[in-house]
Amino acid sequence: MAWIGGPMNECDRISAKLGKFRPSLTLELKRLASERQQLGLQVFDFGLGETKGELAPHIREAGERAYREGQTMYGDPAGLPELRQAVLDWLGLAGEYTTENVVITAGAKQSLFNIFLAVCNPADVVLFDAAPWVSYQPLATSAYASPVMVLPRAGTENHLKICPEDLRRNLKMRPHAKLFLLNNPVNPTGQLYEAEELEALLQICVEHQIYFILDRLYWRLVFDGHEYPDPRLDAETKRWVIQVDGLSKNFRRTGGIRIGWSVGPSDVTRAMVNLQSHYTAGPAVPTQHSALAAIRNAYDPELRSDLQRKRDLLQSEAKALPYVGVWPTPASFYSFWDVRATLGKRTPEGSTICTSDDLAWHLIQSAGVVTGSGAAFMQDGFLRISFATPDEQIVGGVCAARAALEQLQ
Ligand code: PLP
Repeated sequence: MAWIGGPMNECDRISAKLGKFRPSLTLELKRLASERQQLGLQVFDFGLGETKGELAPHIREAGERAYREGQTMYGDPAGLPELRQAVLDWLGLAGEYTTENVVITAGAKQSLFNIFLAVCNPADVVLFDAAPWVSYQPLATSAYASPVMVLPRAGTENHLKICPEDLRRNLKMRPHAKLFLLNNPVNPTGQLYEAEELEALLQICVEHQIYFILDRLYWRLVFDGHEYPDPRLDAETKRWVIQVDGLSKNFRRTGGIRIGWSVGPSDVTRAMVNLQSHYTAGPAVPTQHSALAAIRNAYDPELRSDLQRKRDLLQSEAKALPYVGVWPTPASFYSFWDVRATLGKRTPEGSTICTSDDLAWHLIQSAGVVTGSGAAFMQDGFLRISFATPDEQIVGGVCAARAALEQLQ
């Protein structure tokens, strides 16, 4: 049947915006790795940004108990009040904010999406740092905002960290900027902005009256005894700072529980809760109980020490890999390998490595080594290596990668 106005054109079936989206890289990598495993092929999985191991029993039991006790009716769209209070305690913000400043979401992704939807008007510019995490752009674009990367000035690269001058330069060019989003620690680069660097960027946002969004999802995974640098919160900054965090990274096996949260000014929080009341009615109540159990206890540093040990293992195994520059990783569970020296080399099959996608593909095909191409983070010429993987995968995977790299000419 033809609709009034004629049949729908095939290319109009999906919106112009979503039609251009590619699936999330990390989930795509998970699919690729399991496809190879099912075929009985060797896989060394450095792709997925997910902690492994056992889920802590108290987290599991809290969810089970919630189901058993029938805690399955609609909840507060802002999230359980006791979880919102626990979020403030977990972040050390109980003296700064009340539960009216907190929204519980289905993962940190939804907090980010809420923020874009709550504060951006169509075509507002949102500024990201130099290697933005894969989903920032699709989320911002879905909210009709225009994402722009703040890049370090050529010759001043500090492991892709940006400096205050870089942000100022971009703000001068883009008077419609609405927010600056910083991920600290940084996925994918594994870098950490120190307190003074953070303060300088925050101060610029305050001067320009734009929001400073801090995605701190990996904040407990800071190594070598360093403290996580919290942003300054006072009457001047609190109007502009919105912090995003969640359950997915700082515990073992919690990514699928899908709980995140944001803490920020009450007007923005109200707008997000209002929105959430219409589109999710808040996250699943039993999983919120699991999140509550996870964060209300003192944090167990076991995961952090284990990841620090894995970081050191990877660092020593990857020493002197051909064509690879390995950066130090002060935080998170990613190492960002500089593989620009492979560009232009040829594989034994005769194809040329033109991009880090090509190299990632060569490593999978010839050695079963799954990595994240830097192109997905707008940094072609790099590979993201997730070392939240068993030790034998680290040792075997680097050895296999070495053989695949040595094949290049
Ligand atoms: N922000 C960063 C930097 C991430 O790495 C991720 C997930 O990988 C997210 C946000 C989304 O987190 P969640 O799984 O809690 O939605």
